[in-house]
Amino acid sequence: MDTAITVDAGTWIRRFVEQAERHHEELTELDRQTGDGDYGTNLRSALHRAAAHLDAHSSDSPRSVFSSVADAFLNTGGTSGPLFGMWFREFAKATEAGLTTAVLAQAATAGVAAVMRLGKAEVGHKTMVDAMAPAADALSEAAAQDLGVAQAIRKAADAAHVGSATTKDLVALRGRASYVGDRARGVLDPGALTVAMFFASATEEVG
Ligand code: ADP
Ligand code: MG
Repeated sequence: MDTAITVDAGTWIRRFVEQAERHHEELTELDRQTGDGDYGTNLRSALHRAAAHLDAHSSDSPRSVFSSVADAFLNTGGTSGPLFGMWFREFAKATEAGLTTAVLAQAATAGVAAVMRLGKAEVGHKTMVDAMAPAADALSEAAAQDLGVAQAIRKAADAAHVGSATTKDLVALRGRASYVGDRARGVLDPGALTVAMFFASATEEVG
């Protein structure tokens, strides 16, 4: 039964690391077209540090897993590093209570609020927020409907994917991509795509 399926935070993050690794070139190319081309490298170095922590602590709690991911991003350069760091920090805080639908809804809601506070981006500004916000809404809706964590994460992954896809046609109003104006149209935002990959990594786990 769906509700009986649990998610292991360590496995989730390992899958995310693999996805980011697989899409490293694509993410870098997206940032090259609208920014400075360092995105894939920033992401990779943060996630390699997080993976090293996982290797050293095989039976970590969700809180500790997300904490190490948050720290890895907070110690990474680029605009995306601290923003993802703040986002994952909220996952670490919330998941002290375990990995349930309600906890994930709380984490994603507090996470996107922190990112929006720090980066001053709204939905539609062509940033990671365009995938984070709909994922948080989907998780909150799932929590209100009392859905199991597997179903909730699938809904979050779908919402993040759709949100990420919307960035393609947008002109950026935040970040380095905002400097290139209309030239950003037609290029997906790498930050939003990464958020979609993060939730998709969990659906492999719960699938
Ligand atoms: P930099 O522009 O410093 O090289 P990165 O390449 O590390 O930054 O990250 C770029 C990503 O950061 C973008 O794809 C976008 O999703 C995200 N981003 C940039 N500025 C903001 C912001 N103000 N708020 C939210 N996300 C942002
Ligand atoms: Mg960049």
